[in-house]
Amino acid sequence: MLEQLKEEVLAANLELPRLGLVDFTWGNVSGRDPATGAIVIKPSGVPYETMKIDDIVVVDAEGQTLEGALRPSSDLPTHVELYRHFPSIGGIVHTHSTWATVWAQACRGIPALGTTHADYFHGEIPCTPILTEAQTANHYEAETGLAIVARFREGKIDPKTMPVVLAANHGPYAWGNNVHDAVHNAAVLEIVARLALHSLQIDARLPPMPQHQLDKHFFRKHGPGAYYGQR
Ligand SMILES: [Zn+2]
Repeated sequence: MLEQLKEEVLAANLELPRLGLVDFTWGNVSGRDPATGAIVIKPSGVPYETMKIDDIVVVDAEGQTLEGALRPSSDLPTHVELYRHFPSIGGIVHTHSTWATVWAQACRGIPALGTTHADYFHGEIPCTPILTEAQTANHYEAETGLAIVARFREGKIDPKTMPVVLAANHGPYAWGNNVHDAVHNAAVLEIVARLALHSLQIDARLPPMPQHQLDKHFFRKHGPGAYYGQR
């Protein structure tokens, strides 16, 4: 079942090392079938060089395996919670990409400092609080997802206008309407994380860009008034 989505998820997983976003097996991509809610995800611990279509695992919306002989990514419960609480998203990417992880390890959100950021992310990229001992001991991966959901709810952040987040002391998650968009957002996040760090090295007290500039760049590419690109 879901052969096309499995092909997309396999291709997206293989794209991560090509884009320089993952080393070894430290990353995973999933996609959700809008019709059934089934989630298609990378298997756990399989090297990218040998991963093939039959290794891809299909699970239901609760994370129970429907198809596939291998165990799904150990981060599956994080993906399950994000899909459950953010119904608009169709693909999720998790990596330990260097520059985004630098910010995650510092437990700092990435301020919007320029138009590269504003073209994709409408405001500061949030970082979750550090997980408690209890959250870490029990259902750690699901709690990671729930911490992201809580951070968005408390900050009144819309996952459609902020398709990336930093899990504190850990690394980035990115999502999108589909698997391809999620990978693209993960790659843009890595660029933006690097730009912001270097800008703050020049001036550590640099304020965020003005709201009017942030709004202009975000909304010319997103939403009903968008006019960037071809019709
Ligand atoms: Zn991780």
